[in-house]
Amino acid sequence: MQMTTAKMMRLFNDETITERVKLEDFWTVALGTRPLSLLSLPADFPDSQRLKEAVEQGFITRYYDGYSQGGLAGWLQRIQYWLRRRRQPPIAYQTSLFHDAFEEVILEHEQYLGLLRWQVEFGLASVQQAVQPGVEEMLVYRDESVLAKIVDLIRARALIREREQSDDDTKASANPFAPPEHADPQYVEGIGDLLGYPSCCIEAFTDEVRRGQESGLRSAKQINETDRVASDAFFASHFYPCTPDCPKAKGKGRTILDRLATFDGRLARRMERIYRSNIQLIKQYPRVVERRRNESMQHGLKVVEHESL
Ligand SMILES: [Zn+2]
Repeated sequence: MQMTTAKMMRLFNDETITERVKLEDFWTVALGTRPLSLLSLPADFPDSQRLKEAVEQGFITRYYDGYSQGGLAGWLQRIQYWLRRRRQPPIAYQTSLFHDAFEEVILEHEQYLGLLRWQVEFGLASVQQAVQPGVEEMLVYRDESVLAKIVDLIRARALIREREQSDDDTKASANPFAPPEHADPQYVEGIGDLLGYPSCCIEAFTDEVRRGQESGLRSAKQINETDRVASDAFFASHFYPCTPDCPKAKGKGRTILDRLATFDGRLARRMERIYRSNIQLIKQYPRVVERRRNESMQHGLKVVEHESL
């Protein structure tokens, strides 16, 4: 599928998709600078907060009332949920209600349909899957050969999560907040490689998970303690280069900018702005972690944060 400046500018002016998704998720893959990108829905919609609340509301309506519509349709749905509730364990039942609410709110929404339409325009395709109640991940790829690898990784992750649920005492990760698959080096290497992360940075991440450390915190500390921060190294959100001027990560970020500049210099400059905002996101990460810990202490719950690796 041909990439043209005119087509890129048309998408660039479409406000139903965030600038980050256009540049970081669609074009890096369409240009062949990385095989895969990963969106989190509804977080990656321009209207994310409202859509998140609508999904939660859809869940609450179903959970307490058993239906979301009035009249005969509502009555039938109520019976359907009642039967489902009798058949399924409580967590599976709640997850299924979240899934229904997600489908109702998101799948017909213009911001979602826009994502699919523009993928087709740029010769991209995607696989979608639920990662936590109310949150789905969209894996965007260009080359057919990537699909088989994605399917393998999704299977591997499902097995890791199953194992973790059935065997609670032998967690490989010392960090209770990390998703269980982060403790599996083979999984992390597989997905990290597809996302275009350099091997040195993936290795730093797996080492840190093994030691129960958070790469985001390490990266924030590195950024604060040195002047040698190369913004090109921060070419993807939720990616933590092994050092803030890692030559391989920097090279990847530069390649992306050079490719965009061949279409229009303005696109490359907007992408540089995204790189700088990725650095800001990492700087805020210690506060996010602190809030997460406080919340989990208050609720006495284990909260698994969604991260894009
Ligand atoms: Zn590195």
